[in-house]
Amino acid sequence: QHTIYDDNNIFAKMLNGDIPYHKVYEDDKTLAFMDIMPQAEGHVLIIPKQKAVDLADLEPEYAAAVLMTAKKVMQAQRQVFAREGIIQMQFNGAQSGQTVFHYHLHLIPASVHELGRH
Ligand code: 5GP
Repeated sequence: QHTIYDDNNIFAKMLNGDIPYHKVYEDDKTLAFMDIMPQAEGHVLIIPKQKAVDLADLEPEYAAAVLMTAKKVMQAQRQVFAREGIIQMQFNGAQSGQTVFHYHLHLIPASVHELGRH
């Protein structure tokens, strides 16, 4: 049974302008902002402006837009933090570790070994 999209989830509230966030980038199909509990310095989340619970829901144009935004954010992270290593991370379903049920892609300037310490 697939999770039904909840219009009151925390990322929906951000898209509606109801709660504050630190914006990194925005265009007509995506929004990128700083993670409130970063797993490394510069931890960014990218979300589509589509009511998608997870990857299964993501429409092709939004999937493409999320990745194009990810490319921009990663380039900025590489420059700002002067490091090549950037992790993409993304969870689908509570069983996998998803806690916010609006699709989001993590972009984390870190190595897998650094994340393993958390
Ligand atoms: P996931 O669902 O991928 O396991 O994790 C959700 C992510 O959203 C976590 O990294 C968490 O820190 C982040 N997050 C949860 N609530 C907020 C919030 O209110 N603001 C921001 N900026 N990030 C949040």
